[in-house]
Amino acid sequence: MQSRPKKLSDSLQYLKGIGPYKAGLLAKNGVQTITDLLYYFPRKYLDRTNFRKIGDLKEGEKATVMGKVMTSGLVTTRSRKIFEAIIGDESGYIPLVWFGGQHYLKTVIKKGILLSVTGEVRYYHGLQIAHPEYEIMEDQEDIDNLLHTAGIVPLYSSTAAWSKVGLTSRGLRRIIRNAMDQYSGMIPDFIPEKIRKELNLPPVRASLENIHFPPNMKALNEARRRFSFEELFIMQMAIASIHSLTKKIRKRYQYSIPGELLKRFKVSLPFQLTSAQSKVLGEIFDDLKAETPMNRLLLGDVGSGKTVVAVAALLYAVENGYQAAIMAPTELLAEQHYTTLERMLKGFNLKPGLLLGSLKASEKKRYLEEIKKGEIDIIIGTHALISENVEYNHLALVIIDEQHRFGVAQRARLRGKGDNPDLLVMTATPIPRSLALTVYGDLDLSVIDKLPPGRKPIKTVLRNESSRQRAYEFIKKEIAKGYQAYIVYPLIEESDKLDLKAAALEYENLSKNVFPDFRLALMHGRLSPQEREEISHDFRNGKIDILVATTVIEVGVDVANAIIMVIENAERFGLSALHQLRGRVGRGAGQSYCILIANEKSSDAATERLAAIASTQDGFQIAEFDLKLRGPGEFLGERQHGFPALKVADIVTDLDLLKVARKYAFDITSKKIKFPAGELTCLKSEVKKRFGKMLENLSAG
Ligand code: ADP
Ligand code: MG
Repeated sequence: MQSRPKKLSDSLQYLKGIGPYKAGLLAKNGVQTITDLLYYFPRKYLDRTNFRKIGDLKEGEKATVMGKVMTSGLVTTRSRKIFEAIIGDESGYIPLVWFGGQHYLKTVIKKGILLSVTGEVRYYHGLQIAHPEYEIMEDQEDIDNLLHTAGIVPLYSSTAAWSKVGLTSRGLRRIIRNAMDQYSGMIPDFIPEKIRKELNLPPVRASLENIHFPPNMKALNEARRRFSFEELFIMQMAIASIHSLTKKIRKRYQYSIPGELLKRFKVSLPFQLTSAQSKVLGEIFDDLKAETPMNRLLLGDVGSGKTVVAVAALLYAVENGYQAAIMAPTELLAEQHYTTLERMLKGFNLKPGLLLGSLKASEKKRYLEEIKKGEIDIIIGTHALISENVEYNHLALVIIDEQHRFGVAQRARLRGKGDNPDLLVMTATPIPRSLALTVYGDLDLSVIDKLPPGRKPIKTVLRNESSRQRAYEFIKKEIAKGYQAYIVYPLIEESDKLDLKAAALEYENLSKNVFPDFRLALMHGRLSPQEREEISHDFRNGKIDILVATTVIEVGVDVANAIIMVIENAERFGLSALHQLRGRVGRGAGQSYCILIANEKSSDAATERLAAIASTQDGFQIAEFDLKLRGPGEFLGERQHGFPALKVADIVTDLDLLKVARKYAFDITSKKIKFPAGELTCLKSEVKKRFGKMLENLSAG
């Protein structure tokens, strides 16, 4: 065969032992080129120094052991079938038990095989490990490595199809060895040497060697740190370039100094802005007056008073002769905002409009006309605001409220709707610092870090279903004093599968049997806008004592006289929903209560969530906790935000590295640090390779 120059973009077929068939299988899973292969990192490592002797295990500890399966099979206990395997080493034996997945386990965990398992040792008629993580040790080489040397064995994810053709962990190690030997001299280092030296990160070649073939834990950890930084750095380079793209845009709409309208608005408020609100408002006004569009995230806890800040910004736009819009995630919230605005802007001679998907065609047509002609100044609505057929006259400011699920690409689309309007994103609950630096990393950040004065902490209690009656009695007493209450259910229709309380049925029961002397109303997502508005109105004006509702009231509802929030089936709710719901009370001077009623058989995760909610009212803490519980994957998934998932780095544990990576990326993009020509070439092309689609969408949007 004629010799040809080797390239990192070569197909894997050029490696010994890989023909077109294997190459095709690998390619199907995203491993196409030599580079892809070298960056196909082990999913985990078995480390000999971690292994314990089975005979030494103690109750309550988390441990890793290796042992031979002595017996295995289904065991029927009084209540259910479980899968049990007993493993042993020279020091003793221990049963492993699983309560689910028996059919699969039966086919893989067979007598005689060697298993490495990790899990918590517990006591149940003797020591056992329930639901351990396990590895089947098929490979004599791995076993020798673990038993007879101080070895670390890397394990790769390998699909069933791969394994069938020998692409097991061991097979992959072999071909990666091959690739390293032939190609590793050509691998570019995306991290400029200067940065590497400053951060004490090993060079790419040594790092690749050590991540695939770690000689010891120290070298492995250094390599992982290097690739974590690399991954975060490349991502932050993309974010920095999005950030700088918006800074290059010149706005059409110019603002002058705040005038009469804004002053009158401040005077009309029944309170003074807090210093935190004033500071944030200052940052927003500076952005509005700047030549480039605002691109800002407003972060503040539930009840911190983001709405007034938003309204002040809207007024400023209107005062300068422009249109401004607020976009809310649900029709109910849009309606709430509309009502709030109408109330706040009484006597200001302004015309807000409410644009909902569910409007009658004739009404919608009229609205669209008025928006197009510029007769409506403030437009409130849902996603309908960015639908194709809305044309604005001079839309200068867009506020996105309570939208933690609004991605970079959607924001770009919104900007395209107007003539590069200013953009303010408000999140319903705080988001963790790490997300502010990633998912929202292209936005400038303003934080309202203090609640308005005079708020009493909400008393949160956790109850099970048997104490529901006592909760009802308590509600009766408080309503007799003139207060109001919410009772929230997870769904509105009976679902026999999930045994949830159906709000509609419960509403009947509560009105007839529990609270016959009080005025109740049922609020849910399928009511018509008119019905919802009527109920909101009556509740606000005290004509309703107890609002029975689904999660539609999660955000936005603001009635200071409502001081009790009962959440039924609280174990079904996520942390941020619980925090939001609780945030509906505690808005006035009265002592407020949040009563969480949960099923006693809640899962561990649910129990942890409830304990977290009961332990603090600080949304920032709850957000951090939520991220830790759910893991960053869900937040950084491609679908939601256009970010490729992280492979090595973990934004929770690598937060410090993330901050450093961000600083370098922003400094490079703003030319605060400079590099000789050519030194950033491979970095830049890698950024394009990983984030190109996202960047293109943005500049096209
Ligand atoms: P969120 O940040 O959750 O959107 P809101 O804007 O709904 O909070 O404000 C919560 C409540 O606090 C509202 O009733 C609002 O009128 C009130 N509020 C806002 N700012 C202040 C302030 N500076 N002093 C007193 N009350 C305030
Ligand atoms: Mg709000």
